[in-house]
Amino acid sequence: MKKPVLKGSVVVAAIIVIVVIIGVFTAFVQNTNDGAAIGSLDSTSDDSERMIIITTTTNMITDLVENIGGDNVSVTGLMGPGVDPHLYRPSASDVKKIQNADIVFYNGLDLEGKMGDIFVKIRREGTPVWAVSENIPTDSLLGLDTGSHFDPHIWWDVNLWMEAAKAVASGLKEHDPENYQEYDKNLEGYLNQLELLNSANLMKIDTIPREQRILVTAHDAFQYLGRAYGFEELAIQGWSTDSEAGIREIQNLADEISKRKIKALFVETTVSPAIIEALKAAVQDRGHHVVIGGELFSDAIGKKGTVEGTYVGAFTHNIDTIVRALE
Ligand SMILES: [Zn+2]
Repeated sequence: MKKPVLKGSVVVAAIIVIVVIIGVFTAFVQNTNDGAAIGSLDSTSDDSERMIIITTTTNMITDLVENIGGDNVSVTGLMGPGVDPHLYRPSASDVKKIQNADIVFYNGLDLEGKMGDIFVKIRREGTPVWAVSENIPTDSLLGLDTGSHFDPHIWWDVNLWMEAAKAVASGLKEHDPENYQEYDKNLEGYLNQLELLNSANLMKIDTIPREQRILVTAHDAFQYLGRAYGFEELAIQGWSTDSEAGIREIQNLADEISKRKIKALFVETTVSPAIIEALKAAVQDRGHHVVIGGELFSDAIGKKGTVEGTYVGAFTHNIDTIVRALE
């Protein structure tokens, strides 16, 4: 007697399940056909599904986009701490991350020298690709010895990085106009932070005597910092690390350092310290005592989750390190 009853309820349950599946599937198809409705389908869906997917190159830009984008963005940076952007070649998985992004932000001015073709290709395929340097007026940029390029290391001038922040806000507002007020609010807050950073730096640097404001590094990453805070920059290599530091360059610089009695040299986080150690040895050979004044963040900031993993923290570290070594 029981058997047919059970069979009947199984059939009813199966029909209910099929009806529910068809209903959900129909709703899903309708929603995926109408982009605006995504997110209303399932109230339990993860927040990240509605975030704007952004891919960045250097970790300074990752930090910048996270500050301006706030809770609306999910940012994947291709280059972590200690990575040299001049030499960086994207892997197959990097290319996928660029292709899957809603927006791509990169530095521009040829910093990512081996990635230019990818950005051109992605832009042609319709993804918004923004160089954070693109709104900086040409007369605010520094040239290079070679003459054909602008110096790409704009982030070490806080005023230029403010322009980069505005470019990020423009990119986000263009893609997501609904939330423009939020991006404007985040931008305003971050610009205030950068202004405070700049004035604090100026006060600290005031303690270094003018004639000791000389920054000796492995590669030419601090021309903008030099212009903003009155430092002369002496580097073994030019603006790019894409050339071997020659023995002749090291000998010439060692002559100058000992002649001018410069106190300290600085190692960079993205360049092998061997180059600066070779320079130090060459200076000691000339009978002048010079020290390594510490490690500066040059083409990358620190590890995410640490104080130096933010632009503001890394900049503060650099200025404190320089002041300690040269004052
Ligand atoms: Zn560099």
